[in-house]
Amino acid sequence: MNVDNALRTIELIRCASKAATAYRKAQRAVREADADHSAALAQLSHWNDHIRPRGGGDRACLEHGARLAAVREHREAEQKLRKAEAGLQRASATLQAHRPALNRYRTERIRRRATTVLLDRLADHPVDLIRAADLAIIQTSAGKDSVVAMHRTVAAAKAAGGLHKVRVMHCDLGSEWPGVPELARRQAERYGIPFRLVTPDGGFLGMVENRQMWPDAKRRLCTSALKRDPTGPVITSWVRELGLDRQAIVLNVMGVRGSESASRALKARLAVDNRTTSANRLVLTWNIIHKLSEQEVWEDIASNGLEYHPIYDTGLERLSCIYCVLAGPDWLILATRVCFALELPHPEIFAALERRIGHSFKQDFTLNAIIAAARMLDALDGPVTWRRGDALRRHLGPAAANQYLALTR
Ligand code: SF4
Repeated sequence: MNVDNALRTIELIRCASKAATAYRKAQRAVREADADHSAALAQLSHWNDHIRPRGGGDRACLEHGARLAAVREHREAEQKLRKAEAGLQRASATLQAHRPALNRYRTERIRRRATTVLLDRLADHPVDLIRAADLAIIQTSAGKDSVVAMHRTVAAAKAAGGLHKVRVMHCDLGSEWPGVPELARRQAERYGIPFRLVTPDGGFLGMVENRQMWPDAKRRLCTSALKRDPTGPVITSWVRELGLDRQAIVLNVMGVRGSESASRALKARLAVDNRTTSANRLVLTWNIIHKLSEQEVWEDIASNGLEYHPIYDTGLERLSCIYCVLAGPDWLILATRVCFALELPHPEIFAALERRIGHSFKQDFTLNAIIAAARMLDALDGPVTWRRGDALRRHLGPAAANQYLALTR
């Protein structure tokens, strides 16, 4: 497939869709401004027809005041209408410029479908995709999925002769397990690719303190405000460094897998990121390992000797914040017991914040209850213990674990 043509078509359709939406919006604005103008005109006519001659006492004074207000409102409505009409003219000119694409892809549904088909086919050609791109930015959490996504991106980039296009970015929220940013850096250094650490102001705990509320599944401000938003300026600076005089093609690589959750299963392997795409960059979110199972991820880690965080050896299956707002009680209890074993202060820090803001960490239970349950289990069973390689033993068996340990010693 001709990747350059496919990317050009995707951008053409995106711009045409944008122009069609802007035109519809401008039409709506004119309709609304026209209605406001008619109402203001009617009001003004009313006062012009019924106003009493001056000198008629308090009532006449009030009527004159009302007429003046109607004159002012009519003038404002007229200005608003003129502005809306000018906007419609501009939107109409832009629409005309995109007429060929709009004639070919007539409805929004057809445009969406065509884009999806093209993106899906592009996702089957990772090497060509990187060859056509100007940048491939890997957003890593340093977790198992991220490191495999990084390994596969680097392999495709090497095959494309485009390793120089690859960059790595990691957001440190200050609420992760110890050693995560250092691990993210080491994982990037293994391939010799540039690494950028992003540390959002205040981090996770600062955000909760400010809002006096924990995020939840419906309002995941921790990912939107602390992880997604700070990446925009980094992408901007990397695109600027390229010094291109045309639109840059940017691949935004994520370690998202479909089998992780129902919502992730619905995500496409490749999608236009309309939020960060602009006239000077077409940003495509690339879920490069979307089809992999958890088992396949561990197989990639084992066979390539990829460094993974020791927290996986404890039985925790995700390298998230120590206390993730999306986690269930069993997971949180185990995380707390691991904190006890590692003598980390996080349970007390998080529980103190919960008490201070008076908002429960989860709707149906508090962190205090989690900590109490963790203490009880520690008292019954003793502290949790683990050995390096336990994650691989669990997923691939002892032979694979031993082989990995020998390889990475
Ligand atoms: S790991 Fe959980 S708590 Fe941390 S940023 Fe992600 S969703 Fe939010």
